[in-house]
Amino acid sequence: MASKKTVVELVALQCSECKRKNYTTEKNRRNTQEKLELNKYCPYDRKHTLHKETKIK
Ligand SMILES: [Zn+2]
Repeated sequence: MASKKTVVELVALQCSECKRKNYTTEKNRRNTQEKLELNKYCPYDRKHTLHKETKIK
């Protein structure tokens, strides 16, 4: 458990095909407990692919 009360967490969205982190988004942990999975445009694959939440770094 984090000691600081941070409800909004910054996460990266990683392409499931080329593994590049194309997007960052804010995730409200109060509303969203599960991992984010979004269909987003990947400029490297030049098509929409499934992007999954991952840590920023
Ligand atoms: Zn990709």
